[in-house]
Amino acid sequence: MTRVVGLTGGIGSGKSTVAALLRSLGAEVIDADAIVRELQAPGSPLLAEIVAEFKSSILDASGGLDREALGRLVFADAAKRARLDAIVHPKVGAEMARRLDEARRRGVPLVVLDVPLLLEGRRTGRGSAAQFPFDAIVVVHVPESVQLERQMRRDGRDREEALRRIRSQMPLDEKRALADHVIDNSGSLEKTEHEVRALYELLTRPARSA
Ligand code: ADP
Repeated sequence: MTRVVGLTGGIGSGKSTVAALLRSLGAEVIDADAIVRELQAPGSPLLAEIVAEFKSSILDASGGLDREALGRLVFADAAKRARLDAIVHPKVGAEMARRLDEARRRGVPLVVLDVPLLLEGRRTGRGSAAQFPFDAIVVVHVPESVQLERQMRRDGRDREEALRRIRSQMPLDEKRALADHVIDNSGSLEKTEHEVRALYELLTRPARSA
């Protein structure tokens, strides 16, 4: 039986780091962000739809999507963000469902759906994974100060832009309260690795027969 886990966090909290650790332990990770990038590659129908809505100013010199420019646009305007979501989410959701079915057919023991805005989407019912029947939700948590610092370092954003992105999401403390399992990623990578290993073992433990 395949167990299906939803993995999320807040921007810069370490979700991708934890996803990579779970993958290295043997989980199959379905990465919503990677699917978005694939589906909106140059020449794709999805990119054409996005350009029709937001004009070619969101394209880079080589005709690909300038994600940073699009991000600035939608993070500053909730209505624009809703329009983008309405274009992108159904296609991403369908592709994740297809990959999940395929993993189930192969009998993969643990599938992890890595979805940045999983809990925001489930709250509004409109996210790409809003309808998925998860066995458990895992949240990667750090204090906001750590989220800010790691995001600034990773993405080279200034403090104001980094904070705006954090504040556009559900607060990480709220996400923690909705989780079935929490990974505390505020310490060293070694400590996180230890926590992730324990979680992987828990999630792949055979169900006790009644
Ligand atoms: P997310 O996917 O949640 O946005 P990432 O996994 O990309 O976050 O982590 C954000 C940044 O912080 C990355 O540059 C990553 O290498 C770094 N990072 C993640 N976990 C730790 C940790 N425990 N200690 C130090 N740096 C970390």
